[in-house]
Amino acid sequence: MKKTAGIHHISAIVGHPQENTDFYAGVLGLRMIKKTVNFDDPGTYHLYFGNEAGEPGTIITFFPWANAYPGAVGGGQTGVTSYVIPLNTMDFWEKRLESFHIHYTKAERFGETSLRFNDPHGLKLELVERESGKENGWSFGDIKPEYAIKGFGGATLYSVRPEKTMETLTEVMGLERVGEEADIVRFKSFGDIGNVIDVRKFPMPRGKMGVGTVHHIAWRAENEADHLDWQKTVREAGYMATEVKDRNYFNAIYFREYGEILFEIATDPPGFTVDEAPESLGSELKLPPQYEAHRETLVQSLIPIKLPGVNDNKGHK
Ligand code: ZN
Repeated sequence: MKKTAGIHHISAIVGHPQENTDFYAGVLGLRMIKKTVNFDDPGTYHLYFGNEAGEPGTIITFFPWANAYPGAVGGGQTGVTSYVIPLNTMDFWEKRLESFHIHYTKAERFGETSLRFNDPHGLKLELVERESGKENGWSFGDIKPEYAIKGFGGATLYSVRPEKTMETLTEVMGLERVGEEADIVRFKSFGDIGNVIDVRKFPMPRGKMGVGTVHHIAWRAENEADHLDWQKTVREAGYMATEVKDRNYFNAIYFREYGEILFEIATDPPGFTVDEAPESLGSELKLPPQYEAHRETLVQSLIPIKLPGVNDNKGHK
């Protein structure tokens, strides 16, 4: 049976791209690893943030819509995105969130403490200390690699048919059911990052797509051959998997599982260094070949954004 290593990336719909960038790069200290356009709507951005190398399991991507309607987090969505921080760094992160006046709560689950808060557009996030996942080499001001977010711990899925979603995780995606506590059932994949998936075990009222909601969660495929094999597996399981789409940095297929959550399966290669050197990831607007001829027009329709500097922190205090 096929097994995915875990989460490849998570993609969400958010508001103003500068607020989005200030939060993920300036507050959480992630690296902007790619600034490109939405391939289906090239007048808007597609922004990617991850660890230093932009590795699978660390990548959150955003479709920022400055004037769009807010959505509602609920059933049929990836409800909470969980990040993993190094052991013994919770105090550092509490102080950091406090310095930006970000309200958080703490919760216990499966013997771990998580720090829960929302991003500026309402996306639900949490930080959890874990040993797994390698150190993120990216530094941003006080966020030295020994404190930096390593990547995804995992996600909490809000399903409208939890039993079906759980069955898809174990029977199609190859995850293992590892525990149950309160209203959560926990699953694990074999990777060491983006590998802990929680499912709310009671059906959730349907959410509404819009600003502040996750659009889809993508799972890892090793390479193109493995990806085609996944497409076959997903179709044989009765799902309507799309054709393979070339997303420049990976190939993608999509299907909506029976709990109504949009799943993608994405290839690890070629990755984000396909059109930019590792040291300059995210520094320029990158366009796929089909839009390169329209660069000037596109740039005029995009809202200018800049990466926050380390000293911009002070402005938030
Ligand atoms: Zn995706």
